[in-house]
Amino acid sequence: MEEKIASSLGVEADCIVLSSGADRIIELVLRHVARSSKRLVIPVPGFQMYARLSKALGLGAELVALPVGSHEGLRDEVRSGDAVVIGSPNNPDGKVLDAKAVEALLRECAWLVLDEAYAEYARVSFAPLAASHPNLIVMRTFSKAFALAGLRVGYLVASGDVAKSIRQLTGPYEVSSVGIEACTAALDDPEYYGKVVDLTCKNRSKLLEELRGFGRLEVFPSQGNFLLLKLRGADAAGVSEALKQRNVLVRNCSGWEGLDGEFVRVTVGTWSELALFISSLKEVLGS
Ligand code: PMP
Repeated sequence: MEEKIASSLGVEADCIVLSSGADRIIELVLRHVARSSKRLVIPVPGFQMYARLSKALGLGAELVALPVGSHEGLRDEVRSGDAVVIGSPNNPDGKVLDAKAVEALLRECAWLVLDEAYAEYARVSFAPLAASHPNLIVMRTFSKAFALAGLRVGYLVASGDVAKSIRQLTGPYEVSSVGIEACTAALDDPEYYGKVVDLTCKNRSKLLEELRGFGRLEVFPSQGNFLLLKLRGADAAGVSEALKQRNVLVRNCSGWEGLDGEFVRVTVGTWSELALFISSLKEVLGS
């Protein structure tokens, strides 16, 4: 399967390391970059597993706060010798790094680790660049756009030498044969997955427009399959619970590092699911 992934990205198969989901890839990559960086930098808000795993591995990461929905100040925070771990699109706010920012970070940092779990929805990926940039590692997964989270298949893209070193940290049975079969079949049907992603992106734009009509909401434009909302004056825990009573599940982001207690994240589903979400939120917020 490495060959198939590699050819879809235009890189060599030896640049790919497969493992059991992106969470496991994050762990492998953190262990690798920690050996040769002075400081592990995790911008927040970001996917919580970066901080959780670095703590579990005893790596002492430094969390750096960025404005929600923007990368303002990121470059000023980064010093030479740093390893920076960041999502693009970033979970929870869906922002993506642009090529200029990536180039600047690659010049400055010892390592740039990009988590592209949601890259299909952004239609932009730096994975091909990783093959020729020895300090760039890109992490991907079959859990999101391919909807195969239960099978636990993820991979990284890096230069051949870096991939070889990280492969040495893996065990002999990282991925199941069932997972490989299913992911291979998924890669063989780009037309189907392209349609699903198109539909999700269309619903994301429609949802954004609808939510912008709500008086008290701040909605962050996202390149992922989710939108982050600031409830401005309402408590995320209470609103999430009231939505649950109406059979709508959102992510209550209270307690999420880098966010206050007013944020919820909603996943972009089918339009009938989103219509229920919109009408329920109207009821709950009274707007
Ligand atoms: N990265 C991000 C940004 C995620 O949101 C998730 C899943 N929540 C993962 C990685 C982990 O994905 P996987 O199922 O492949 O472990």
